[in-house]
Amino acid sequence: MNNARNDVIISLMKTRIEKIDKLHIDEKIMKRAGKVLRKGGLVAFPTETVYGLGANALDEAAAKKTYAAKGRPSDNPLIVHIADVEKLDTIALQVSEKARKVMEVFWPGPLTLIFEKTDRVPFGTTGGLRTVAVRMPADEIALALIRAGGGFVSAPSANTSGRPSPTSAEHVADDLNGKIDMILDGGSVDIGVESSILDMTVEPPMILRPGAITKEMLEEVIGEVTIDQTLISEDSGQAPKAPGMKYRHYAPKAQLMIVEGETGEVVKAIKQIAYEQTRLGYRVGIIATNETVNSYTAGVVKNIGTRSNEHSIAKNLYKVLREFDEEDVSYIYSEVFDEAGIGNAIMNRLEKAAGHHTIQAQEITKLQKYRRILFVSNSDNCRGPMAAELLRHQSLTQEYEIGSRGMVVLFPEPANQKAEAIMRSQQMTLETHEATAFDEKDLDDETLVLTFEETQKWKIVSEYEHVKNVYTLSEYIEDERVVHSSPGEPLVVYGENFELLKELIGKLAEKLNEEAKHV
Ligand code: AMP
Ligand code: MG
Repeated sequence: MNNARNDVIISLMKTRIEKIDKLHIDEKIMKRAGKVLRKGGLVAFPTETVYGLGANALDEAAAKKTYAAKGRPSDNPLIVHIADVEKLDTIALQVSEKARKVMEVFWPGPLTLIFEKTDRVPFGTTGGLRTVAVRMPADEIALALIRAGGGFVSAPSANTSGRPSPTSAEHVADDLNGKIDMILDGGSVDIGVESSILDMTVEPPMILRPGAITKEMLEEVIGEVTIDQTLISEDSGQAPKAPGMKYRHYAPKAQLMIVEGETGEVVKAIKQIAYEQTRLGYRVGIIATNETVNSYTAGVVKNIGTRSNEHSIAKNLYKVLREFDEEDVSYIYSEVFDEAGIGNAIMNRLEKAAGHHTIQAQEITKLQKYRRILFVSNSDNCRGPMAAELLRHQSLTQEYEIGSRGMVVLFPEPANQKAEAIMRSQQMTLETHEATAFDEKDLDDETLVLTFEETQKWKIVSEYEHVKNVYTLSEYIEDERVVHSSPGEPLVVYGENFELLKELIGKLAEKLNEEAKHV
């Protein structure tokens, strides 16, 4: 939205970056920062939600600079930040009892309230609206700056419009260096998503943007609270009541997609997609959690926090989205998060960042029949591990966990030495192999069990209940040839067996790839 001339003027500016210790706020720096605001300049500062880009809210020209620096559409109003409740009446009219109650409980804090504005607030600050959004932040640096700057600081998030909001001073500098006067660096923010917005000009009050203060928390204090319909259903056909909510926001450069469903299913689906896309030569990003991060085998995986405390996810959300911009990924897949508590705000921001692109995990997982393939021999030290390793070297269109088991394994012995010698001559190894006994838990819906001989198959079928997906290798690939056990035979016999096995495993790979197309 900047015109070219504005760009030139703004980019000539030197941005001072000042580190501030929250516990020992340097009064001299705050005084200087306050002076910048009083003179109509721009100062970015930390709040408990995200970093804000401060200007004197009562100075229309200053507000206009904010829009230019951010490239923000001018119909997207700014939130006015105050440090003392007594200042509210200067900018807001008809402050109700209910409003006083919520302020008492939640201010200072991550809650913005909408009121009728007074004439003191220029339309340049409110995007032409007759209402004004007001918040008292909890961050000590923010409060000190607001007081030093004259008491009324308009502050949108201190990012370039459309980019993820900044949760550290580095993020602010990445977007706005050279375009604003000063950045107060108070370290990383606490909450990580923008304030909840509550419209107090309607009855019952209405949530226009979800944040850390939830509907339930508000209702406990003032009774019924409604939610802007556009937050609930994407196609309500209405414009959101908070003008800013209509823009594509918070977006990373790569296309982000949210994978929905039960967590186990979501992980499987993302694994499947990441495997396929990596195979096709794409670099993909994955947003995972503490609980799931180790499940992924392909893609650039980032741990966003723990599901047991979604506040950790809120805190890292924008940082992770920004980090992906450095990774040069084509697509980002995010796990879906629980909507309870702050989860509602997380999902709201994530959905905006994704432009509402979602994928149902089950639609993906149903396209893959097996996820694990086990080769079963007698002692699991020769044919089985060889077959497994050969299959791992095949080009497979779907990802499988590939392993081997034995029907009579008494201890975890290493692979047969002759088998290892043959594998080495083929640039492969069974070095890390340890024989493992077949177990009932190896039988499940997603596991394909392939034995070498009928005897092993019948042993499994007769010993266990619920036997599914158990075949001999010959039966499965419809080739009569069988690789027999060769203990004590000379190396040449191992070599011959290897050649046959290699051929059969090649056919198996073809069959798996063929089947994958038809599911
Ligand atoms: P930001 O400061 O970037 O978090 O954006 C401020 C948000 O507050 C935007 O979504 C605005 O649309 C919203 N907002 C500010 N003032 C008003 C107002 N008077 N009425 C409704 N929404 C507002
Ligand atoms: Mg913003």
